Amino acid sequence: MGERRRAILVPQYLKEFRCIGSACEDSCCVGWRVDIDNETFRKYQKVKDEELTDLFSKYMHRNRATNHTDANYAKIKLMDESRCPFLNESSLCKIQIKRGPEYLSDVCTTYPRITNIVNDILEKCATMSCPEAARIALLNPKEMEFDECDEPVTARNIVRTQINTNELKFNNRPHKYLWEIRIFTITVLQDRKYRLSDRLIILGLFYQKLQEYLEEKRVDDIPILIGTYVDNLEKEAFGESLSGIPAKYHIQMELLKEIADKRHEMGINSARYMECFAEFMNGIQYNSEATMDENGARYREAWENFYEPYMKDHEYILENYLVNYVFKSLFPFDEEAEVFDAYMMMVIHYALIKMNLIGIAGYHKGLTDQQVIRLIQSFAKAIEHNVTYLNAIKNILKENDYNKMTYMAILIKN
Ligand code: SF4
Repeated sequence: MGERRRAILVPQYLKEFRCIGSACEDSCCVGWRVDIDNETFRKYQKVKDEELTDLFSKYMHRNRATNHTDANYAKIKLMDESRCPFLNESSLCKIQIKRGPEYLSDVCTTYPRITNIVNDILEKCATMSCPEAARIALLNPKEMEFDECDEPVTARNIVRTQINTNELKFNNRPHKYLWEIRIFTITVLQDRKYRLSDRLIILGLFYQKLQEYLEEKRVDDIPILIGTYVDNLEKEAFGESLSGIPAKYHIQMELLKEIADKRHEMGINSARYMECFAEFMNGIQYNSEATMDENGARYREAWENFYEPYMKDHEYILENYLVNYVFKSLFPFDEEAEVFDAYMMMVIHYALIKMNLIGIAGYHKGLTDQQVIRLIQSFAKAIEHNVTYLNAIKNILKENDYNKMTYMAILIKN
């Protein structure tokens, strides 16, 4: 009898992804905690290999937190420079070499893949914190496409979120239109008639309206709202309103820098990301004594002379990042209670990446694909997974009343 298989939905790049192991510039465990699931922990306790047994007893510890689960039953204590103690001098995993891949924990087996279950279908993509996944997913100039395929039912996955929008509890909630909203969002993000900044502003206008509809309890008007926006997109009816939005470099930079600085308080200290951030500061010669206008003028110069000449032909990199973000996070229904908050968080990710790249472009007097991947990968690793930091940013925006489309447009528009 053949092995049983199940349907999965994946972006095409995931089928090409292969871990590059010792050739990787930023091995997955560097700078992170490595969780060990209960089943793997028990397996490790039975291993009879002196070197591994010594390492297990020295570096593997039960997770004593009261809210631990089977998935984080134990953890590996990292060594200096946040390196996993099981990596050999070629950065290959000793557990895998000595015992085979079936001895890897769920986290080590599945990384960088992220799995959600939507209406009983497994959806998989990759986090951009893996440099090889980021290269394959982001550097493809073609639109990101998705395929239905299958995998053995025995394949290991860590399910991040599970949702069934057909359940009764979603009858009066926008979640029942998850697929319509998702397809619309990805269609706008991939509509290359518009610059990416304009596509994001069009989405903002849509999510602002959607938020109003939800406050007025007009859930079943969502398909009509989507239809109106699709018509307007096809007729290119947004042109006039978009061209009237001015670029405000100094406000954009000050706002984003304030958000970026918050990371110090949150203990974000990834060496790779900090290197990129230092290049950003250098690239715009940021000076805390200078006026907002003086710093803003240097930021603008870096954008005009070095970022824009590269990015006008490489917008697909950030487009692919955003499409992956939407798919991975079940946007707009993942972490955020309100749809406009979810939009705001997506804009923050985009705007912080852009801000850093503008400074890096100034520092190197131009940009290369390699520099862009290094920034996005280290940003994803240091920031995307840090819920505390992301919530702190959301609070800054709300406390200052910046969670409005006017401010979102300032963050987006150059
Ligand atoms: S970060 Fe990606 S390419 Fe690098 S070792 Fe981990 S899975 Fe492999």
